[in-house]
Amino acid sequence: MTDTPQSETLGFQTEVQQLLHLMIHSLYGHKEIFLRELISNASDACDRLRFEALTDNSLLSEDDTLGVQVTVDKDARTLSIIDNGIGMSREEVIEHIGTIARSGTKQFVKALTGDDSKDANLIGQFGVGFYSAFMVANKVTLTTRRAGDQADQGVLWESSGQGEYTVQTLDRPQSGTEVTLHIREGEDEYLEPIRLRGIIAKYSDHISLPIQMPKEIDGDRKDDGQPEWETINSGSALWARPKQEISEDEYNSFYSNLTFDHEKPLTHIHNRVEGKQEYTSLLFIPSHAPFDLWDRERQSGLKLYVRRIFIMDDSKHLMPNYLRFVRGIVDSMDLPLNVSREFLQHNKDIDKIRNASVKKILVQLKTLAEKEPDKYKIFWKEFGRALKEGIAEDMDNQQQLADLLRFATTLSESDEQIQSLKDYMGRMPFKQDAIYYLTADSHTAASQSPHLEIFRKKNIEVLLLSDTIDEWVVTHLTEYEGKPLKSIAKGALDLKNLDDSENKADTKTQEKEFSDFIKQIKGALKDSVKEVRLTDRLTDSPACLVADEQDMGGNLERILKSIGQDLPEHKPILEINPDHVLIKRISGDNKQLDDWAQVLFDQAALAEGAALKAPAAYVKRINALITNSLAAAK
Ligand code: ADP
Repeated sequence: MTDTPQSETLGFQTEVQQLLHLMIHSLYGHKEIFLRELISNASDACDRLRFEALTDNSLLSEDDTLGVQVTVDKDARTLSIIDNGIGMSREEVIEHIGTIARSGTKQFVKALTGDDSKDANLIGQFGVGFYSAFMVANKVTLTTRRAGDQADQGVLWESSGQGEYTVQTLDRPQSGTEVTLHIREGEDEYLEPIRLRGIIAKYSDHISLPIQMPKEIDGDRKDDGQPEWETINSGSALWARPKQEISEDEYNSFYSNLTFDHEKPLTHIHNRVEGKQEYTSLLFIPSHAPFDLWDRERQSGLKLYVRRIFIMDDSKHLMPNYLRFVRGIVDSMDLPLNVSREFLQHNKDIDKIRNASVKKILVQLKTLAEKEPDKYKIFWKEFGRALKEGIAEDMDNQQQLADLLRFATTLSESDEQIQSLKDYMGRMPFKQDAIYYLTADSHTAASQSPHLEIFRKKNIEVLLLSDTIDEWVVTHLTEYEGKPLKSIAKGALDLKNLDDSENKADTKTQEKEFSDFIKQIKGALKDSVKEVRLTDRLTDSPACLVADEQDMGGNLERILKSIGQDLPEHKPILEINPDHVLIKRISGDNKQLDDWAQVLFDQAALAEGAALKAPAAYVKRINALITNSLAAAK
């Protein structure tokens, strides 16, 4: 006797019920995927047993063949998926099957699109596969025993998917898991072996373990003796075959088995390395970003195999973080079978595999950009922001990464990021000696910034950067092909080089003319600005703010503050356009100059996308100034 109750009835976590409901309704046309999910669980369970057996060889004996069996009993209306993998203890059954162990339904629900085929695809991504059984079953019975558990007892779990499940102890001589689906009326096709074989061939052909069904024509499990089993998946490791023999369809179906993504990948990279180090990698670039691309805890990545044996999912060591969207496998001939995560961390072979894979991916992306620009556009839209992280993260490949960057510029008609630095350089006037950019928190804010006025007038293209990550890109990428990247909102503007037409001989005169005015403005704003000076960067606006050359730009400062960083105060520089009619008018008005100074400063801050410290005071001041000028006009 044990202390655990023999039988108990428990309630599903609420999310599980919501999920069941959702699944039954939203995946109506894709019920067949339940089999793929259950076979995938069974195959994972076998992989995990093999992995644990590497350190505890009592778990698996030489002549055990791990595999999955699928049987039907038409009379009883049941379909069973049986594996001799790791199994589950009572606690594990309750934890894994009664709750949503990994991702919450909330995220799942948020990600649902309403498009059935896309939503079907999410099921795999969210790890809610087991429950898909209830799409075709009105009751599911699972019996299991954890490998290595000493008592000859296992657990029976049963539920009709209606909010409750029961668990009870049962005698079970072997470890492993059997999932039995009591097929609903009307879903009889899932009792037909030929239909089941078709589904297995479609989704699970590449699973490396044997998936077997009884050989008899009707597939029933007879009481009189064991059935003769037939392996129905080809199970070959696709990556081990020569490239020229593999069709595009085979690559695509391998990808969809690996990732449960039903959309075709954008491209793949299949690479075999021989010599000192031997390995094969088969990598895919998906055609859309996963829901958790920005989740730091995300798990998916590459699968590591050693001599065709699955070792582990690895999201850290085989790919740098900025390429975390790459999916696929690496199969090494040299690593020991019992590698641990710690081992991967300090392993030179792994480092070499990673570095070589990164280079291959970057070359492939470059080819994609050149040969299939439409696909590259999709790539950039989905993964561009992740790739930008590489500029800071991967100094060794920085220039190759810089070639792959795409930006919106003042020449773009929309906010689409489609211009490369190379395109930009190709359009630069001969005398232009820097690549100009402007950062802001939105494309609209960037494209309407007063800082662009002179550049528009002189027809000089400026990169418009509005992704948060762009601030890090320009901090780390300081030049491209010998030209420095320069913010147009920082430091003094020197466009003299490009100034052939205009006569700026009057600068000195203007400085003299406005020197008192500037002094007064400076006095009024002494707590808010570092300096006040005349500028020629504006044509339509009266004033703008710029950061001092060595100071942090306003946009970056706002981003850092918004994530809670404590920053020393940087005062901006207020630049004034002496040719603007407002400036000309107010420079003669000494009475209200303090108010005007404050208004100019606040407006310049607003135009940058900054929030005013005292918005109500700004409104009051503007109203007072308007009222005064209306009175004067009467
Ligand atoms: P996922 O497989 O994506 O994690 P599932 O809902 O399909 O989500 O399964 C939940 C968990 O239940 C699995 O992660 C695993 O721990 C456990 N499980 C499911 N099926 C089996 C099985 N055949 N053998 C052992 N454990 C299983």
